[in-house]
Amino acid sequence: MLIGAHVSQSGGLEKAVGRGVERGAQAIQIFNQSPRMWRPTAYGEDDFRAFREALADAPIKAVVIHAVYLLNCASEDRDIREKSLRSLIQSLRVGDEIGAAGVVLHPGSAKKGEVPEAIKRAGAVIREALSESERCDLHLEDTAGAGGTLGRSFEELLALLQAAGGDGRLGVCLDSCHLYASGYDISTAEGLRETLDQCDRTVGLERLRSLHANDSMTPLGSNRDRHALMGQGKLGERGCAVFLSEPRFERLPCVLETGADGAPSAQDVAAALKLRKRGLASRRRAEARRRSAKGRRPSARTRARR
Ligand SMILES: [Zn+2]
Ligand SMILES: [Zn+2]
Repeated sequence: MLIGAHVSQSGGLEKAVGRGVERGAQAIQIFNQSPRMWRPTAYGEDDFRAFREALADAPIKAVVIHAVYLLNCASEDRDIREKSLRSLIQSLRVGDEIGAAGVVLHPGSAKKGEVPEAIKRAGAVIREALSESERCDLHLEDTAGAGGTLGRSFEELLALLQAAGGDGRLGVCLDSCHLYASGYDISTAEGLRETLDQCDRTVGLERLRSLHANDSMTPLGSNRDRHALMGQGKLGERGCAVFLSEPRFERLPCVLETGADGAPSAQDVAAALKLRKRGLASRRRAEARRRSAKGRRPSARTRARR
């Protein structure tokens, strides 16, 4: 697992790399423009080169771009959909230029309208954005399920992937807070295992390409998107340790989006690495217990012979 952090890109794209290095991150996530404005930042070849050069010298192994929050590819308003499309294309093109592992996108919101229609609209926008860019992946993020937000379940993510054409560039980003808030009990190793089995049966684990590590301030199934510091929410230290040590998450970029002072700091990244270690140790202990229990109990065959 490549544990890292969301970092600011202000002052220049390549500045984000330095901020990631300062935080001891193995993966970084950035916005490709100011998150509160539609106006895209006009990056040029020099910016991309500076970023690529900074990255080549850094111990950061993956970069993820988060599309800005204003986007709603599922909007009933044609103007909003058009703006969302333009912005998404821009994110994917920046991703093409800087070699990003993917652009993470909140699939959109049906607001008060019909969900199947909203999924169709979002799918059409996403499909077009892919056709207007070269190679960067697009990861649909699972949501907490607040209001009419799309992507609250694996079934809904699958419907979105299909509506978007099922291209190989399409993947999924799982957020630990959103999973829990939308009703997947990932607070134990068994719960997370069952959740990932479900994910595998629906969207397929080959679509799982990135992760967001946040604790949840609100309870299981609350459908509220309120991030807490890792270990300080309803998942708690144990639940977060489980998430950070999940074997099927190996090699995936996993970024923290929450910090004690808002954005995640070096301390927050270090704390996550510690939780991961704790999770790995408890998985090893559980495995050893399983083995010794098996060793002590006579197997079915020896019992039958007696
Ligand atoms: Zn997230
Ligand atoms: Zn969230």
